Amino acid sequence: MTRNAVSVGAAMCFAFICIFVAGIAAASISSDGSFRLLKLDGHHVKWGDSALGAGATVRYAFIDAPRRFDGARNCQDLVPMDHLALRHGISQATLQAETAAAFRVWEAAANITFVPVDDVERADILIGAQGRPTGRAFANVEYQPGSNDGVRAIERALICLNPYQPWKVGFDGDIGVYDIRYTLVHEIGHAIGLDHPGPSGQVMSFRYSEKFSDLQPGDYRGVQLLYGVSMNSMAADSTSD
Ligand SMILES: [Zn+2]
Repeated sequence: MTRNAVSVGAAMCFAFICIFVAGIAAASISSDGSFRLLKLDGHHVKWGDSALGAGATVRYAFIDAPRRFDGARNCQDLVPMDHLALRHGISQATLQAETAAAFRVWEAAANITFVPVDDVERADILIGAQGRPTGRAFANVEYQPGSNDGVRAIERALICLNPYQPWKVGFDGDIGVYDIRYTLVHEIGHAIGLDHPGPSGQVMSFRYSEKFSDLQPGDYRGVQLLYGVSMNSMAADSTSD
């Protein structure tokens, strides 16, 4: 398999059947199986300082014009999200609000901050609709090469949704139509270094479900291992008794 020497994309999907692309080494799974850290070519990956537990600030933007990412394994062709919005009668404002809410879910759980930016060139995570639709939703994670065996710094992540699949806002019990926010929470999880622990039970599980909308215990443990506990949750803890 040809691979870009600088970065590698992780094949990440969110569907009833997920197929990992070769090149992803065995991931680290927690002892109770509730979370799994993404492992790319033998290395865990995270934003910010490479020390496990160190916090990070990550900028995200929506793709504003068709763009190709040579070397990306997923989301190679991204187009603006209005391709999805127009097909499903979802307003841009709603899409942006759902996306912001999805980022806040992780922000509330760990010491990671997400900042929306308009300039795609300044963004760390880019979000768009697929220019070549396939599957439901994917993430692509690229990391900086390093000379030692430590954790690698994520350099850029792409998140893409298939505009030709049905989408909805909110749960309604029909698991054939995915909720945009829940799907984005899952894909953002990949974009910050988490893998699938298994088929079900966590937001990071690979099977879509509407049994819960919040992060589950394994999701918390995974993201907190990578970025530490959220400053907000620590403040909340200290004021409660
Ligand atoms: Zn996934």
